[in-house]
Order: sequence, then structure tokens, then C-alpha cells
Amino acid sequence: MNASAGTSRDFRGLIREVPDFPKPGISFKDMTPLLGNAAAFSAALSEMASWYSHEEVAYVVGIEARGFILGSPLAQLLHAGFIPVRKEGKLPSASRRAAYELEYGMSAIEIHEDSIPHGAPVIIVDDLLATGGTARATLDLLEQLHATVLGCAFLMELSWFDGRMRLQPHEIRSLITFSS
Ligand code: AMP
Repeated sequence: MNASAGTSRDFRGLIREVPDFPKPGISFKDMTPLLGNAAAFSAALSEMASWYSHEEVAYVVGIEARGFILGSPLAQLLHAGFIPVRKEGKLPSASRRAAYELEYGMSAIEIHEDSIPHGAPVIIVDDLLATGGTARATLDLLEQLHATVLGCAFLMELSWFDGRMRLQPHEIRSLITFSS
């Protein structure tokens, strides 16, 4: 990446589209080329952090697994704690659970029930917004814990699924939008 690193087009060029993964008909958006490019990874995180530069974010809630990769450094940039939302059965202590439908299957996620103090301001981070089912389930968990959700941040968004609709009224930000 050169001095112009950081525009949406630069980032998009570092997403590899893998047809028919993990199932026929799914075009998987692989962010590993972007992660492997130090300048691009840093610029992407800086831009995502800038969305919240005027907010007090107490916790970044990252969704397993790719939400961990983006959420942990983002938490550091925002001087916030990091809270993992994990696939069912992975968290060791008492947890809340929410089931949801994926673009390619069903799943359930969990959060430690004592992880967030009542009312604490949080953001949700994941790699990609498709139908919004995963983020909606995460919002449901955060509502159970009475967290204050400031917004949801994604590296990528597949706009034709209209996942934003399911996440209303929360503010949704994404760095790269795929429209077709
Ligand atoms: P959804 O719940 O439909 O918004 O799907 C978002 C979740 O599924 C994210 O955690 C993504 O990592 C994953 N995902 C869904 N579709 C894709 C895709 N086409 N490429 C990469 N990841 C995807």
C-alpha cells in the first residue's frame, strides 16, 4: 500500500472472493489478504476506530471468530475492554445464549452474563454483515445484559441482504460495501 492507502477501493482490492465456499452458491469474502498487508490492516483499523472518536466506548464486543481479529486491536485503539461473543459451549463461566440463522446454516452464540456492567456503552464488531442474523442475536444478548449499544462496525457489508434493517435502530458502519 502507498500513501493513498485507506480508501474503500484499496481495501476492497484486498478482499479475495472465493466462490462456492463453504457451500455451493456462497461467494466467501476472504479478508486474509487485507490482514496480511500491514499498512492496509492498520489503515482499516484506524478508519474503523475514527467512527467512534467522539464517543466513550467502554467495551468492544467481538463476534467469534473473525470479529475477534478485528475487535481486539480496535478495543486497544479505543482504550476499551474486549468482550468475546462465542459459539455455543465455548465460554467457561455462566453465559446467556441466543440462536440465529446464518446465510449458510443455523448457529447459537453466548456471552458471559457478568461481562458488562448495566448501561455500559459498547460497540459490536464483526468482519461481515450479510442477513444481520448474527449481529441481531448479539444485540439480543446485549439487551439481556442491559448494555448501551452505540453501534455496530463491520469491515464488509453485503448490501443486497439488507441486514441493516434487522439491526434498527442502531447505527451501522461498514468499511467496504459489496452491492452485487
Ligand atoms: P449474517 O448473520 O447473515 O449477517 O452473516 C454474518 C456472519 O457470517 C459473519 O460472522 C461472517 O463472518 C459470516 N459470513 C456470512 N456470509 C459470508 C460471506 N459471504 N463471506 C464471509 N463471511 C460470511
